[in-house]
Amino acid sequence: MGMDLPPRQSINEEYFPRNLMEFDEWFSTEDACEAYLIAIRWPEGFRCPRCGNDRAWRRRRRVMVCGSCRHENPLTAGTIFHKTHKPLRLWFKAIWWLTSQKYGANALGLKRVLGLGSYEMAWV
Ligand SMILES: [Zn+2]
Repeated sequence: MGMDLPPRQSINEEYFPRNLMEFDEWFSTEDACEAYLIAIRWPEGFRCPRCGNDRAWRRRRRVMVCGSCRHENPLTAGTIFHKTHKPLRLWFKAIWWLTSQKYGANALGLKRVLGLGSYEMAWV
């Protein structure tokens, strides 16, 4: 995929920067933001919602393509920033402030704000 994905065992509801300094380190590039979305969307590894295949690559920004059926899986589908062209870094930064105030800074808070909670069930 050409991105550095985190080790799977580290991906849980605490998988989120603990402070602003970490935040800036984790999400320093668009690639890093995309890798994070992939990690929390498919914590067990990618699995195509259409055919169940577990291999995929990134066709273009924010889209994973199934290696078998070629189904396109937008990383941002179902999130508040789907179809926007603003940098993910900008969104993440805004979300950081929202989640740290409202829920405490963690991935669960991020997923709530992103609207990933119920949506993700459709991918199982
Ligand atoms: Zn597929």
